[in-house]
Amino acid sequence: MQRVVPKKRFGQHFLKDLKIAERIVETIPADVANILEIGPGTGVLTQFLIKNPALNLKAIEIDTESYAYLKEHFAGLEVYAEDFLKFDFDRIFDSQPFGIIGNFPYNISTEILFKVLDNRNRIPFFAGMFQKEVAERICAPSGSKTYGITSVLTQAYYDTEYLFTVSEHVFVPPPKVKSAVIRLTRKETQMLPCDERLFFSIVKTAFNQRRKTMRNSLKAFNVDFTEDIFAHRPEQLGYEQFIEITNLIKNKMN
Ligand code: SAH
Repeated sequence: MQRVVPKKRFGQHFLKDLKIAERIVETIPADVANILEIGPGTGVLTQFLIKNPALNLKAIEIDTESYAYLKEHFAGLEVYAEDFLKFDFDRIFDSQPFGIIGNFPYNISTEILFKVLDNRNRIPFFAGMFQKEVAERICAPSGSKTYGITSVLTQAYYDTEYLFTVSEHVFVPPPKVKSAVIRLTRKETQMLPCDERLFFSIVKTAFNQRRKTMRNSLKAFNVDFTEDIFAHRPEQLGYEQFIEITNLIKNKMN
């Protein structure tokens, strides 16, 4: 019996609805000059991106078959046949800022987001398609069920917009879940007014025990938690309040 060898997947769900592809491309604000597209596949977004001559477009695509297709159909386009997660941003756009767009590979969508957060000094704009659940988590306001580490860390640096929900039927093959298009626009201040490492560690520690009050989950920091703000559970606090807590703890530690 002949064995069917499964094609390597790389989280591939190709968009077949051109209207949605166009709407994703339209999320790019006019002041963004450089754009990196992650995972163009067979170029459903790319064909709209190249229509804008003002955009300096580059792409990164890990799949060799898709890469060959892109080289054939988009002759002038610079495509890196590489893994976005390992890609060194020093190599592109001459240290200039750049935006990122894509219908992202769902198997690594959170890693992509965290790489963007790590490189926020270069990336004023980030938009595209995620699984609906991940999109909701990124954009969730405090107090909602999906609000968590991802929401706080993203919202500390970016204004987040949940733009629209996308049905699984506009992809080949259809994913098991619904999708959504979101947009992140970097905030004016790129440095938080607190010790950022401590901020990260407080956010992570607090949400690891999201049912507990801050006072209880942050015990390991070994300071006194007299202020009222520590009586809250992490999901009730916005990133501004995490900054406040970071500064309180920092002062108590000194
Ligand atoms: N943009 C296309 C394809 C989306 S599917 C469309 O909308 O139809 C996700 C794409 O990301 C695939 O082409 C896949 O090969 C690519 N990809 C997956 N992992 C990647 C990685 N680590 N780095 C770069 N591209 C990746």
